[in-house]
Amino acid sequence: IALFLILFIAFDVEREVLTKENIVEPMRDIRRALLEADVSLPVVRRFIQAVSDQAVGTGVIRGVRPDQQLVKIVRDELVKLMGGEVSELLFSNTKPTVILLAGLQGVGKTTVSAKLALYLKKLGKSCMLIAGDVYRPAAIDQLVILGEQVGVPVYAAGTDIKPAEIARQGLAEARKKNVDLVIMDTAGRLQARLIDKAMMDELKEVKKVLNPTEVLLVVDAMTGQEAAALVTTFNVEIGITGAILTKLDGDSRGGAALSVKEVSGKPIKLVGRGERMEDLEPFYPDRMAGRILGMGDVLSFVEKAQEVMQQEDAEELQKKIMSAKFDFNDFLKQTRTVAQMGSMSRVIGMIPGMAKVTPAQIREAEKSLQLMESMIEVMTPEEREKPELLAESPERRKRVAKESGKTEQQVSQLVAQLFQMRVRMKNLMGVMEGGSLPTLSN
Ligand code: GDP
Ligand code: MG
Repeated sequence: IALFLILFIAFDVEREVLTKENIVEPMRDIRRALLEADVSLPVVRRFIQAVSDQAVGTGVIRGVRPDQQLVKIVRDELVKLMGGEVSELLFSNTKPTVILLAGLQGVGKTTVSAKLALYLKKLGKSCMLIAGDVYRPAAIDQLVILGEQVGVPVYAAGTDIKPAEIARQGLAEARKKNVDLVIMDTAGRLQARLIDKAMMDELKEVKKVLNPTEVLLVVDAMTGQEAAALVTTFNVEIGITGAILTKLDGDSRGGAALSVKEVSGKPIKLVGRGERMEDLEPFYPDRMAGRILGMGDVLSFVEKAQEVMQQEDAEELQKKIMSAKFDFNDFLKQTRTVAQMGSMSRVIGMIPGMAKVTPAQIREAEKSLQLMESMIEVMTPEEREKPELLAESPERRKRVAKESGKTEQQVSQLVAQLFQMRVRMKNLMGVMEGGSLPTLSN
């Protein structure tokens, strides 16, 4: 019986569809996952609504539970929402390309400036950094040190000068040096005091002077619920072209990533995942979606099932089952499909209502599958296609037993099981006429 169940997942015959009813509970879980990942509430609401509308009516892949299927849909939507693909940095046609960094204090702007310079240097671009945080002398020193570390020149003009003026001088210097890119670090404000008008005005001035190709908002991945408001403010006030998410090496599931794109329409381009200068990489929406949902296992399972269960295969199989033509070749194919999907215990764990199967039962099932395979392997192609031949001929069964080193009784059992399976599968498909079990002639 364990074998039946294992096989049935491979062609979960009642083709399920996601309905308003069967998504209620999984949607609640997904909502919780998003909130735990610190996606802001309005964003969660809009997202859940949109995905629910879209999910209803979608078919469920064979061998997959509706809730697992739903998670996959949600993940795909999250990926789409975050831009789908990696968003590359933009370069201007005329040298130098200017990148302006903005953001609250402590989010990692200065670190990112130097990281980005190193990143671009590795792409073969020459860079220059401009130290624009005039409020903290230490910030200038910090950038100078980091610049040295990554081997990129830093333009610093002290603290008694307006950022816009530094920008002007720095840009002139960059033109003189004929560098490909200029990256300007700016001052942030304490989160607690929020974003003040003076800071925004200053940034606006800097932006006017630099006419940057990229205005990247640096966002701490732990920003949480405030991310949406933060991004909106910066985008409305100065206009951003994208964002960099920092401190992704921390515990945060990074829900801020979702808010960025949702409220500004601008993509996250890069992520920082550590304090080292090398810890900057492109932003991959698919990885981020998995992280936000925190349901990596389910996702990879559904994808695997999808891969293995080629739709055509499944449909052909269905036809065979309907016409009671399911033979030993199909049998072998299905057991191998199960094997391809991963260890049996894992596969079983995913089948609804099968959580109570014990490891001993699984070992038993695996053994019986192997036993069956060894008998099928010695059958002639004709016998595999027409199991009736074996049902009708004790000689043939004797030969299979001998060649596979099993008993005649075991072979008889296997043949009987195949016919039982035909009936059970037919019944499961809702074809209630069923079929009678052939008795073995002796
Ligand atoms: P700024 O005030 O925005 O310029 O922030 P800083 O660049 O000075 O960074 C503030 C702190 O965050 C520093 O201690 C950095 O080392 C740290 N930091 C920046 N980026 C990352 C990151 O991706 N991961 C971790 N773990 N720490 C980071
Ligand atoms: Mg700084």
